[in-house]
Amino acid sequence: MLLESGWRKMYLNRTCFLKMLEYVREPVERGIRKILSDKEALEREKFPSSPLKLIVEAIVTRSWWRYWPWDKLVEALRKRGYSKWDGDSPKIGIEDLAFISDTLDYLYNTSGTSLWKEATDSIRFLEVKLKEIGSLKAWISKIYEVVKEQRPDWREHEYIKGIKGLGAKGVHDILRSFGYFDMAPIDIHERRFLLRTGILLRYGPSSGDPQDLEFYLEALRKFCKEELRGIKILGQDLGDAPGIVDMIIWHFCCTGWKGCKGICSADPRCEICPIKDCCLYYRLRGSK
Ligand code: SF4
Repeated sequence: MLLESGWRKMYLNRTCFLKMLEYVREPVERGIRKILSDKEALEREKFPSSPLKLIVEAIVTRSWWRYWPWDKLVEALRKRGYSKWDGDSPKIGIEDLAFISDTLDYLYNTSGTSLWKEATDSIRFLEVKLKEIGSLKAWISKIYEVVKEQRPDWREHEYIKGIKGLGAKGVHDILRSFGYFDMAPIDIHERRFLLRTGILLRYGPSSGDPQDLEFYLEALRKFCKEELRGIKILGQDLGDAPGIVDMIIWHFCCTGWKGCKGICSADPRCEICPIKDCCLYYRLRGSK
């Protein structure tokens, strides 16, 4: 059995995490500032444009899983004479959702591709529910309550069920985008990282299912509480913010997006990795 000091050399600890944080601090802080700005907008206005656009974008791209439908939608909005723009990006108010869904329907009618039909129905559902509940903040708060309860039937909730393709990762992504930093949209980057660095082995529940998002979330939450308490970014304590730690890991691992460092990607660049001295995968790899 490994003693505690032995463990600390085998998995990602606080000291190594701080090295990783410095590597990605700039894009992560930029992301947090945007989130806090959108959160403030929800307090000021009932249906602020930037947060509403973010939700429409999340729905159309299935939580940024495939980005091309958003580019297509933007192109179609221009073609159909949409009048509200902020540079290359459409500004979207509650009064514009009907035009957005009509444009998605137009894309469906001209292509016959089912994803446009699903996006059309989802935006129409969103419009109805937002008008019913009265503000974007109220809708987000309601979604947060439902997801936080961890009920297995959360997708069937009256404010969620009409949004096609909204899975656990997607809903965590939306919630984190509005400052709920206890939510973390764990994707393949974080899964690989948590496994390679030993966090999953050290903090994951012994009976967890490695195919289940909750397994990774629990490990990440426990890691934050036990290793990162007191480390703050823009006033946010990482001990309570797995959503921010998720952003840090994501930027460290991802490729192909602005701010991505691509270190612990599908093909990990261990030789230049700043945290290799406390990575389980690196140690095992070196001890054939
Ligand atoms: S890049 Fe290599 S050394 Fe760095 S965290 Fe990933 S697996 Fe570990």
